[in-house]
Amino acid sequence: MQDTVKPSEPHVMTTYGRVPVALERGQGVRVWDVNGKEYLDALGGIAVNTLGHNHSKLVAALHDQMTKLIHTSNYYYVPGQEKLAALLVERSKMTNVFFCSTGLEANEAAIKISRKYGVDKGIEKPVIVVFDHAFHGRSIATMSATANPKVRNGFGPLLDGFLRVPANDFVALQEATEGNPNIVAVMMEPIQGEGGLHPMRAEFMKQVRELCDAKDWLFVVDEIQAGMGRTGKWFAHQWSGIVPDVMSLAKGLGSGVPVGAVVAGPKAAKVLQPGNHGTTFGGNPLAMRAGVETIAIMEEEGLLANATKVGDYLQAALNQALAGTPGFVEVRGQGLMIGVELNKPCGELITRGVQEAGLLFSVTADTVIRIVPPLILTEAEADEIVTKLVPLVKSFLAGQ
Ligand SMILES: *Cc1c(COP(=O)(O)O)cnc(C)c1O
Repeated sequence: MQDTVKPSEPHVMTTYGRVPVALERGQGVRVWDVNGKEYLDALGGIAVNTLGHNHSKLVAALHDQMTKLIHTSNYYYVPGQEKLAALLVERSKMTNVFFCSTGLEANEAAIKISRKYGVDKGIEKPVIVVFDHAFHGRSIATMSATANPKVRNGFGPLLDGFLRVPANDFVALQEATEGNPNIVAVMMEPIQGEGGLHPMRAEFMKQVRELCDAKDWLFVVDEIQAGMGRTGKWFAHQWSGIVPDVMSLAKGLGSGVPVGAVVAGPKAAKVLQPGNHGTTFGGNPLAMRAGVETIAIMEEEGLLANATKVGDYLQAALNQALAGTPGFVEVRGQGLMIGVELNKPCGELITRGVQEAGLLFSVTADTVIRIVPPLILTEAEADEIVTKLVPLVKSFLAGQ
């Protein structure tokens, strides 16, 4: 059986250190491996499986769509694009959408929009402000915007045109950009995901919004992980009351089907003109159906409210169960985007979680356990996460 999990002569590149388990099927927040062993999925495909696994309504809609059209190309109108764009525009108070297939593509488009916004007003060498601990993807441009040296190293020369500043420090941001005529945009994750679950403060986001208005910069939010209801609002920046000029989405948008999007407000919506940008797969009928159905089902099932309710419950339960444990730092996050920080690197817990506790989760920034389950999670299932995770964390922190 082991051979079906880890081939002795793999033909797949070793870009991941994988947990030695092969998953075969899922239902709700549970998955089963090829040997029939059951796991609780608190990772949700890395904040992707909004509706959990094998959601009957989503599956029926996708099946229906597959019998009609899967793909046609962007040479023709795709009715589903207007449908999904309207749903996103209505929820974001923004105006226009470009569809792609992944997160980094959405950020590439956001970066291209930002640069061209500056070039169109005579800035020849546009600069985008980005933050410590930021993660925006692994293409050359999005890697250049990313902070983590582990992501960047070995792929230089990276792109110029990014200025990095500390998060949540408005004075530092003002000082770093003071008198620089080349700034075109500020780009941030409202809650940094890969960087260790660090939220931007609402007050800071309001100050950035005001500065962008005063300086005519675009405010770009990367909602690829925090967006689509995960924090209890459609988009995490909405907790601060601001409206950005550009927003990138992906992960949870298609509930497992690859769907990415860049949403733009009036300042940015007309920057890209025919011939400026494109994609073969982006916005295909199957992907659009996945996005439209995901939003419809989220609404039917009240999943924004559920993310807040069960997220608060889970955070409180984790806090209570871990309080006073030596080596436990804190629980933080919003809704069902939760980080549990420990005082030492805990990457080994990913495999131990699977093997010893039957629980899927990840670790970011070396020391932060990341819990980003499907938004259908119930309080009983949240209790199960606590029951599985806490003993594991305690024994790990006790050196066992
Ligand atoms: C995952 C992620 C990306 C990259 O998305 P891909 O689909 O892996 O390219 C970009 N930004 C943030 C905040 C992410 O969480």
